[in-house]
Amino acid sequence: MRAGMIGLGAMGTGMAKNVAKAGYLAGVYNRTAAKAQSLAEELQVTAYNQPEALAEDVDIVLICVSADSDVLSIIESIAKTVKPGSVVVDMSTVSSETSKKAAALLSVKQADFLDAPVSGGVEGAKNGTLAMMVGGEVQALEKARPVLAAMTGRILHMGPTGAGQATKAVNQIMAAGINQAVTEALAFAQAQGLAMDKVIEIISGGAAGNWFLEHRGSAMTQGIFAPGFKLALHHKDLKICQAMAEQAGFSLTLTDMTVLDYERLIAEGYGDEDISALHRLKIKP
Ligand code: NAP
Repeated sequence: MRAGMIGLGAMGTGMAKNVAKAGYLAGVYNRTAAKAQSLAEELQVTAYNQPEALAEDVDIVLICVSADSDVLSIIESIAKTVKPGSVVVDMSTVSSETSKKAAALLSVKQADFLDAPVSGGVEGAKNGTLAMMVGGEVQALEKARPVLAAMTGRILHMGPTGAGQATKAVNQIMAAGINQAVTEALAFAQAQGLAMDKVIEIISGGAAGNWFLEHRGSAMTQGIFAPGFKLALHHKDLKICQAMAEQAGFSLTLTDMTVLDYERLIAEGYGDEDISALHRLKIKP
């Protein structure tokens, strides 16, 4: 089975390396070609110059790009050349609606589509321990599973097309709340003059312990916000969550607050920083 990876950002690079390690990676494509060339050289695989060229050469097309319009433009390109029986797996975080559009475009070409967003951060992508939530046909998932297993610690089929992205929206709403809680609590701890390494160590071992505190806590209290997960990307995700909530007549108080905070930070030029940059507003409101 031959797989190709489209999108070599913070997530896609680690994913591609793990698929290569498992022996499935035929090649890579990235919009900024230099990134594809250097990774292809490192992994001894093909650097495709167009998504169409990649799609016609592999059985499993993996995608991890930024936003809805990016996914749809990639799908439109690969739909021209994708082989019947191929499985296209989108691991970007986008809306369920985008997943349904992508599945419809590919089904005309007898290719399957899985929405398969992931959680676990750049560390999870690097270490092959991502949690993957999948929407689409079970048979398509089973076909792609050996390749997906190279990138993940856990894969769960959530339901039909769009169910993976709906589950990821749940994750992103939760991540907004956790970000608010951790950045605020640590700024409070700093104001108390506590030893931050000890605060993080002891709280990580108790009921309030969590991934974000363990992985981002120390850096944020030192004013380091290297991505990680770009704040502008989480903002994009939360806008999707807000639209889904509105459709369901549901209110998302913490998400609404986080969107406003992120908009302030983006306006101040911090959109490319990690989401823990929310700490800036807690320290200096
Ligand atoms: P990133 O570092 O900003 O990388 C984005 C990638 O998408 C780059 O390779 C970029 O190409 C490519 N791209 C963007 N627009 C494109 C277009 N129109 N056509 C072709 N390629 C395009 O982002 P990331 O952190 O890897 O995140 C990727 C996706 O995973 C996002 O949907 C994000 O929400 C999701 N995600 C991220 C994390 C995280 O912790 N970072 C965790 C889970 C899920 P260039 O190199 O040319 O710019």
